Amino acid sequence: MTVPQTRVVIIGGGIGGLFTALELAGEAQITLVSDEDHFLFTPMLYEYLSGEVEEWHIAPKYKEVLDERVKFIQGEVTEIDLQKRQVIVDKHSELLSYDILVLGVGGVTNYAGVEGAQQFAIPFRKIAHADLLRQRMVAALDHVAPNLPPQDTRRALTFAVVGAGASGVELSTKMADLLRDAFERRALTGEPRVLIIEMGDKVVPGMGDQIREFVTEALAESRVEVHTLTTEKSLTFSHGGTETEIETAAVVWAGGVQVNPLVERLDVPKTRRGLILVDPTLQIHGHENVLALGDIAYYEDATPTLAGTAQLAFQQATLAARNVSALIKGEKLQGKHFEELGEAMSLGTERAAVLAGGKAFGGPIARQARFAMYTSRLPTWHHRLRVGASWFFGGTEPRPLLPLGIQRNA
Ligand SMILES: Cc1cc2nc3c(=O)[nH]c(=O)nc-3n(C[C@H](O)[C@H](O)[C@H](O)COP(=O)(O)OP(=O)(O)OC[C@H]3O[C@@H](n4cnc5c(N)ncnc54)[C@H](O)[C@@H]3O)c2cc1C
Repeated sequence: MTVPQTRVVIIGGGIGGLFTALELAGEAQITLVSDEDHFLFTPMLYEYLSGEVEEWHIAPKYKEVLDERVKFIQGEVTEIDLQKRQVIVDKHSELLSYDILVLGVGGVTNYAGVEGAQQFAIPFRKIAHADLLRQRMVAALDHVAPNLPPQDTRRALTFAVVGAGASGVELSTKMADLLRDAFERRALTGEPRVLIIEMGDKVVPGMGDQIREFVTEALAESRVEVHTLTTEKSLTFSHGGTETEIETAAVVWAGGVQVNPLVERLDVPKTRRGLILVDPTLQIHGHENVLALGDIAYYEDATPTLAGTAQLAFQQATLAARNVSALIKGEKLQGKHFEELGEAMSLGTERAAVLAGGKAFGGPIARQARFAMYTSRLPTWHHRLRVGASWFFGGTEPRPLLPLGIQRNA
């Protein structure tokens, strides 16, 4: 069968972009442009930090999941000319021309203008960020001698996570469990300290009360403290008008997402928050050959709690692929209503919380359910089978924070 000559360029190989490319493979001349050489299944970045999953499980290289029907270009797109229908990719001399464009560049870390945050805090959106955080945790542990008094040990092993949304909670419980395990293995006295700094008045504000119960219990079990507001390398947090400064081994920023700079520069209709206004077909208002999806798009016909989630990006990828296909064939484009499919959160290294079919459950069973559920969300059947087998036969035990020399040889 001959492939139509329509040139489709997809920018961003995340959940929205990669799944659109996979579904469209063979239907046109597809080019996927993304700034990294690998996909990332973000909901399991916490398990990567703890070593429960390996890099190849959740961050396969594009060349492993894409076949010859999709051309992959690694590079950062710096400019899009919607009139000339061209894209500029950094460090690539040629302009990339398209007939149809799909935008799925996702968001970037939102430091909310907090002084020193971008400079000193570690973001948590990429494999490299998880690697850096793990290195910092090991380095901090390696500096503590077993005979150090408990109060000094606690001071040296204080970590702060900014933001008590799902990301901050998943991260802090994982870190706290890993650190406590390391304390036992290294026979350190006292305990580590993990704080969550939250501006609002409750944890996981976007989630229902059923899940919050499990979250509150897990935070208490993992002994994570919840506080408000932060700045700089050492942390200043204010509570009831008084400011306290705390020394930290690391501050991790899980304080939110903001619009991608590429989208900021794009002259298309947007919401006040800078999200691209899309039609029910995912087409950008006034540009029928350009579709946007995932974290950068404001889609009206979706349950509000779905905004900025992987589930929405997944579901939209199917719609985007169907509508690109319709555009190529000259058929009518469709819209779709998107519903919440359920919620799943990792809570430390031994438990999770899952909300499915209106029922919430927690503990080790929820952890297993989450692993099973997420196997089916990874790209391609081949990759899912390999990962599923690896988890089933090889296990999903966390990798302890061993001293640096030992880790290298492990
Ligand atoms: C740590 C973490 C955990 C999360 N956990 C969950 C969860 O449990 N459940 C859930 O529903 N959601 C979760 N999310 C949110 C979810 O990841 C996003 O909603 C989803 O990935 C959005 O998909 P997207 O395709 O819009 O963007 P992304 O998946 O972010 O993909 C964007 C892609 O574009 C690339 N890119 C960016 N700029 C450029 C450029 N200029 N040129 C080329 N390429 C570019 C990026 O490298 C990336 O590959 C989590 C997010 C993070 C960071």
